[in-house]
Amino acid sequence: MRRLLPCLCTLLLLASCAQPAKPEEAQFFAMDTVMAVTAYGSRAADCVTAVEQQVNHLDALWSRTRADSEISQINLHAGDATAADLSPETARLLQNAADAYEHSGGAFNPLMAPIMDAWGFTKDAYRVPSREELTSLLPLTVDLPVLGYDSPDFTHATASLPHSGQELDLGGIAKGQAAAMLMDVFRGHDITSALLALGGNITAVGTKPDGSPWTVAVKDPRNTDEYLCVFPLTDRTCATSGGYERFFTAAEAGVEGDATLYHHIIDPQTGYPAESGLASVTVVSDDPLLTDIYSTACYVMGAEAALDRWSRSDGDFAEFDLILVTDENHVYVTEGLEQNFDFRGEQNGYTYEIIRR
Ligand code: ADP
Ligand code: MG
Repeated sequence: MRRLLPCLCTLLLLASCAQPAKPEEAQFFAMDTVMAVTAYGSRAADCVTAVEQQVNHLDALWSRTRADSEISQINLHAGDATAADLSPETARLLQNAADAYEHSGGAFNPLMAPIMDAWGFTKDAYRVPSREELTSLLPLTVDLPVLGYDSPDFTHATASLPHSGQELDLGGIAKGQAAAMLMDVFRGHDITSALLALGGNITAVGTKPDGSPWTVAVKDPRNTDEYLCVFPLTDRTCATSGGYERFFTAAEAGVEGDATLYHHIIDPQTGYPAESGLASVTVVSDDPLLTDIYSTACYVMGAEAALDRWSRSDGDFAEFDLILVTDENHVYVTEGLEQNFDFRGEQNGYTYEIIRR
């Protein structure tokens, strides 16, 4: 018995070591979507609180629907030569949005608000605007805001929109910029194991507490209750853009008997929902900002242009990986995701291929 006792103690000790740490978790609504954070570590509780505070702070600065946000102030004074004062955070967001516009050849456009309004997405009062109406709004999406600031860290920044009727909509970049900024919050709390979901933008901080990678799934865009694929994610962000996320039918907008679908990602060339042959685009990269921008931009560009951009991504462009789901049920997966990629779309009629450089 005496010999057994130390053995038993050792076993108990081992069991307690293997016991996974308890996560700290929070779920909240911000930026028009559901946010969730899970973090492990001795300072995880404080970290989770700080994450929620930071996201709410950024939402208050960037919301288009809150009259007192900095973005609303810019929108309110469009065309009247009054520049709005900006925090460095907002100035950086606008600079990044301008860079995204340029790098995506205009596929990512932060000035789509008047067009989103025309389709009724802003107030969930859907309508089908005429081609003439859309054509008359397109010129408002061309000239980007004029940004002024003192130094590279955006102190004393201001911004104005040159034309009356122009309006910023940063829905395609705000969550990515927020996630990028939150990496400092995780680092500042010594967190090496966390998962952050800002709507469909998922960032894996480090690994799970046991050292195994976090796992993420991409939805089947035609059967959103089912997974198309599952793959590991460590210290990277994954974001999906798809027409299936937000749409209405012409019938719902009052066009009797018309089942045409209209979704929320607009082709800036036409003002119509993008029809590039893709059902969804998933981007994976170690930069949360780039991930968010490119998921929207590649959805607008279509598979050929997106894969062309990807093929140059270790040269002219930052590196990222893609999962492109076509309207013909084919899935392109770039080679960086090949390891432990679990494809589950066969039974729903999908085929897939790995794309190599
Ligand atoms: P979500 O925000 O639904 O996760 P995305 O990241 O793809 O999806 O962003 C889509 C949002 O971006 C739209 O709801 C709209 O606010 C805005 N948007 C629509 N079309 C464009 C575009 N071509 N470029 C940039 N932003 C866009
Ligand atoms: Mg996006």
